[in-house]
Amino acid sequence: MGSENNNFKQRQFATKLIHFGKEIDPATGASSTPIYQASTFHQADVDANQEYDYTRSGNPTRQALEDYITLLEGGTRGFAFASGMAAISAAFMLLSAGDHVICTEDVYGGTYRLLSTIMTRMNVETTFVDMTDLDKVKAALKPNTKAVFLETPSNPTLKITDIAAVTTWAKEHDLLTMLDNTFMTPYHQRPIELGVDIVLHSATKFLGGHSDVTAGLAVVANDSLSRRMKQVQNGLGTILGVSDSWLLMRGMKTLQTRMEAHEVSANRLASWLSAHPGVEHVYYPGLEFHPGRAIHEKQSRGYGAVVSFDVGSGERAKQVLAKVQIPLVAVSLGAVESILSYPAMMSHAAMPREVRLERGITDGLIRYSVGLEHIDDLLEDLEQALQG
Ligand SMILES: *Cc1c(COP(=O)(O)O)cnc(C)c1O
Repeated sequence: MGSENNNFKQRQFATKLIHFGKEIDPATGASSTPIYQASTFHQADVDANQEYDYTRSGNPTRQALEDYITLLEGGTRGFAFASGMAAISAAFMLLSAGDHVICTEDVYGGTYRLLSTIMTRMNVETTFVDMTDLDKVKAALKPNTKAVFLETPSNPTLKITDIAAVTTWAKEHDLLTMLDNTFMTPYHQRPIELGVDIVLHSATKFLGGHSDVTAGLAVVANDSLSRRMKQVQNGLGTILGVSDSWLLMRGMKTLQTRMEAHEVSANRLASWLSAHPGVEHVYYPGLEFHPGRAIHEKQSRGYGAVVSFDVGSGERAKQVLAKVQIPLVAVSLGAVESILSYPAMMSHAAMPREVRLERGITDGLIRYSVGLEHIDDLLEDLEQALQG
């Protein structure tokens, strides 16, 4: 049990979720990691190099979470931040003024905002490209390119990027690769195994899983990045608090069970929507006709819980959102409850309409994060919302 047994790295993912080495308090045998609600640590001998001295620099509860996500992603070291955007910002702080980034064009809205309005002031410039086409990625290379940022499946149209193809090319040019793995989680997709240097998460979504904690995680793939990222985390100070670290671990223990149940229902919902006369298009990597399906299957073990669909017009989309009774209508995803969001007026509201339409984010597009309710109830509810 616990950390005395070091073969936990060899075990199946479901077992790692429960037995990750720090699941038992070594001091008392308590069945969960204690919440070390302390900002500082008494140094009885100031000459001794003790492990913890100040919580921004390190705290045993946060450390347990950081080791946990490192084990799940198969990386070298993990870092917990106050939000997904704090984790993503920290990763970009590894860059310097004058550097250039290549980023997937349908990246999460917050990442787009960071790169296009804040990093630009630090003189870090970004080219946004359609990463489903490797030639477009290659064409964006400049003498000062230092990093490539991937997000696959993308949001909300679930476009697929070939991770290994991009990392293989990036290594030839000494580029740092970062991937936002929020939609898949390490249960479905482990980017470090495909050559990615830094995996990022909004743990607010599936990892937390209960819409009750805001958190971000980063996992790096080698020692040199471990040292650099530690310096950034400690220097910026955007750490995750200890209570939220504990709450996040509490949620993560059921990740596999939740993801499996989410996916069964998401598959049902996607096929049901595809056959529905009131729906013009369905986006889900598990569908036969999804353009990125073969690549997705090569690099991921599942299709996830997010299904997007087009009901034809903004008016119809608003009607559906007004009439559904079970899902939360909200920004966010990945929770035990189903969540419907309306990209045109929520996540992508800041995007110019022409750009939005060009990227398939039409006025009729709705994103459904399928929760753990009974699928028959979800379908019946959506049916009554689509009629009318
Ligand atoms: C929500 C989200 C983020 C940002 O995470 P926060 O925890 O809200 O800061 C980043 N990437 C993706 C894909 C997300 O869905």
